[in-house]
Amino acid sequence: MPHASHAPELLDAHSLRPHNTFGFDVRARHAMKIDSVEAASLLCRDGRLAGMTQLVLGGGSNLVLTRDFDGVALIVNIEGKRVIAEDAGSWLVEAGAGENWHGFVAWTLAQGMPGLENLALIPGTVGAAPIQNIGAYGLEMGERFERLSAVELATGARIEFDRAQCAFGYRDSFFKRAGRGRFMITSVVFRLPKRWQPRADYADIARALEGASSYDAQAIFDAVVAVRRAKLPDWTVLGNAGSFFKNPVVSAQAFDTLRQREPGIVSYPQVDGSVKLAAGWLIDQCGWKGRGVGGAAVHDRQALVLVNRGGATGAQVLELAGAIQRDVRARFDVELEIEPVTL
Ligand code: NAP
Repeated sequence: MPHASHAPELLDAHSLRPHNTFGFDVRARHAMKIDSVEAASLLCRDGRLAGMTQLVLGGGSNLVLTRDFDGVALIVNIEGKRVIAEDAGSWLVEAGAGENWHGFVAWTLAQGMPGLENLALIPGTVGAAPIQNIGAYGLEMGERFERLSAVELATGARIEFDRAQCAFGYRDSFFKRAGRGRFMITSVVFRLPKRWQPRADYADIARALEGASSYDAQAIFDAVVAVRRAKLPDWTVLGNAGSFFKNPVVSAQAFDTLRQREPGIVSYPQVDGSVKLAAGWLIDQCGWKGRGVGGAAVHDRQALVLVNRGGATGAQVLELAGAIQRDVRARFDVELEIEPVTL
């Protein structure tokens, strides 16, 4: 079948290095930049792609590429941000999937619409945010989410997903499970409450705001940016994909047993009675901070982040992750789950 007259260019042997925040030097056999919903929905009829495996790429900030990709990488460049509606209690704002997440958060604040400030400086795009339900400093994106639009790659159908259909969990959603690889998210709508309430109870943020008698959303945004800059590596300087492991959650009973053996263990009780453990602390206790395998290493200021010190491969990062998982299992009898998507 002939492809549409405005079909995007099919690029060959395309380097994915600028499209993954680890900076792994891998190539895709082909790549295509998608800058509109129309282009996304025509992909299924594009004869040039027949039989090819497709990989949708946002900012590549939650991805471990272990080898060259023998298919077509679809690079989502759909732009645009706008306020689409307002009611007594909230504003609805929409952004194209290709918008830079941090830029979008800054824009909402500039519009006088707070609510996303705790999620400042998270790398990646708006379209990638729902996939792992990004979260930081006591706020998850899912809490501000209204709906998203996506294109089903196999059929070109445009489909809307509400919050329930996205099945958000802790760094998790439908798009990491049954929906994995099947959709291209094209835009996301957020509901930002007009009655703003600060979330400033995470220790690092509370400390950064100390002394201020009152503060606004911009002050929280600034605090989050300052704390992240001080603690987390900038992927443009030192490749990484943010937290590499999820914080494990254990039962109250398992926690009691663990605490008898490890009285200093860092933990956060959950409303359902279970206990969240700080994965970074567990890794640090096993002596991994600053150590590595080849060019892959555990960040020296935050043990939850694995970094590419230069020339690392995805396979080395996974080898390092496996060694860390084994050590944590042996010492604490706790399973660490890898958070980014591996390919
Ligand atoms: P931190 O302040 O060193 O704390 C370590 C862990 O303890 C965090 O991961 C956090 O879990 C948990 N924690 C801290 N204070 C808590 C509280 N008051 N109540 C409940 N749990 C608490 O954390 P960090 O590593 O520098 O990261 C700061 C925040 O940014 C965290 O929320 C972290 O998840 C987020 N972050 C996310 C990513 C990612 O998803 N890729 C990357 C970097 C940082 P939670 O993770 O459940 O919040």
